[in-house]
Amino acid sequence: MKLKRRDFLKGFAGSTLLASALPGSVFGKEVPPSEAVGILYDATLCVGCQTCMTACKKANKMPSEHTGSEGVWDNPVDLSSKTLNIIKKYKHGTWVTKDQENDGYAFVKRQCMHCLKPACASACPASALTKDSTTGIVAYNSEACIGCRYCQVACPFNVPKFEWDTPFPVISKCQLCEHLIDRNDISACCSACPTGASLFGKTDKLLYEAKKRLKMTPGKYYNFPVKHLESGQNQVHMSRQYVDTIFGESEVGGTQVMLLSGVSFDKIGLPNLPDESYAALSEGIQHGLYNKMILPTVLLAGLSLLIGSRKKRDE
Ligand code: SF4
Repeated sequence: MKLKRRDFLKGFAGSTLLASALPGSVFGKEVPPSEAVGILYDATLCVGCQTCMTACKKANKMPSEHTGSEGVWDNPVDLSSKTLNIIKKYKHGTWVTKDQENDGYAFVKRQCMHCLKPACASACPASALTKDSTTGIVAYNSEACIGCRYCQVACPFNVPKFEWDTPFPVISKCQLCEHLIDRNDISACCSACPTGASLFGKTDKLLYEAKKRLKMTPGKYYNFPVKHLESGQNQVHMSRQYVDTIFGESEVGGTQVMLLSGVSFDKIGLPNLPDESYAALSEGIQHGLYNKMILPTVLLAGLSLLIGSRKKRDE
């Protein structure tokens, strides 16, 4: 049988598709670990006091820093190797009304999102970034880090920061205060938040709470849990008009830190991302291609056939 080059290429494409459909190449929403914990940040409850930032610095032994020129409130201006959690402010026009897009203002909390399929861990060649199989926390091990900074490039939220100003630099990012969780405590930002805007809990329960809030009637008063979702502590707040989306429910496969807001997420600086995890996509293709060495074997056999048939024809 004569194998034509076109047939071989068709076969190659077919086997690539087949291989990428094999187990290991899962696209779409990722499944959280059984005991996954996270944070629900409700921007409508945030008063911009930045108590969470101070608590974060204290809990993680990070120094204060002055990076902006805009004034006292806006310092520091972004996440850095010394700031793992930041409250930023959206302003428009006269910025009179809170949680309003036009002539309004809003707050937003930025930190590591603890992705269900973290691109940083997938890109790390030294396994310095790993996702805990029980809590889902994406932790960093400075001992294993080789300083390649691939995690910085891979993270879709621009979170990991490199210490440029020390002779032995490490990567900095929120680790959800794993050291406190190990002692049955919760993330410092959630303990410190005076309004419950940053709420700690199991991710499935936080998602349920977020969905409940989206069904509230704006202008009515409700009980909002504070600190830990299951602590039994509540505060009464007036419900605001939410954007009808939970940021983090599906972005890049889902994240364990989720956000609610009264102002559209792109306005408060969150990226517009697809539902598919980049890491799952690239790993799926990679694993599919090399799964049981099926594709390289097919490729090699095809090339041998092609070379053999050419040789015969030339003879
Ligand atoms: Fe990693 Fe960035 Fe996701 Fe955090 S937000 S887990 S640093 S990819």
